[in-house]
Amino acid sequence: MDNFKNIIRNVPNFPIEGIQFKDITTVLKDPVGFKASIKAMEEKLQGIDFDIVIGPESRGFIFGTPLAVTMGKSFVPARKKGKLPSEVISKTYTLEYGENTIEIHKDAILAGQKIVIADDLLATGGTCKAICELVESVGAEVVGLVFFIELLELNGRETLKGYNVSSLVTY
Ligand code: AMP
Repeated sequence: MDNFKNIIRNVPNFPIEGIQFKDITTVLKDPVGFKASIKAMEEKLQGIDFDIVIGPESRGFIFGTPLAVTMGKSFVPARKKGKLPSEVISKTYTLEYGENTIEIHKDAILAGQKIVIADDLLATGGTCKAICELVESVGAEVVGLVFFIELLELNGRETLKGYNVSSLVTY
């Protein structure tokens, strides 16, 4: 796939005025493009030793699960408040629009494990920074973060300074 931008739909003023929403459902609908996106994310992770892919709800599930399966790793969902059934650890953070609380199961990640976080889009980096803090709170390590899209003007890389961040498409 030469240019993922051809299959990403931009939706102005969604979900609120002023946001240029990058809609990846048009990527998922394209079997060649979707497969190529997972393969390209996998390539970004070559040479990194890790145990678990964490995907943030909900589009992180879409990119994170095929990545975990093809790379032979575990998948752990990071979910919005109140969705996970067992004991959780949680963190509240600020989004490009609004505020959110993210949770993972307390026993999903063990001390010493190496974690990759995969999501559709890096905006402010708030979501992933919160997940990094959750991971580190149990003594595990974030060894990489991989995004399909990165919105450069929101400086997510600054929020995630010190981590190994990669993305496929930048705006
Ligand atoms: P952030 O924590 O600010 O990096 O972004 C959290 C999540 O919000 C991203 O993973 C996206 O799923 C979603 N998001 C934020 N901004 C946009 C946008 N402009 N277009 C599409 N999704 C977005």
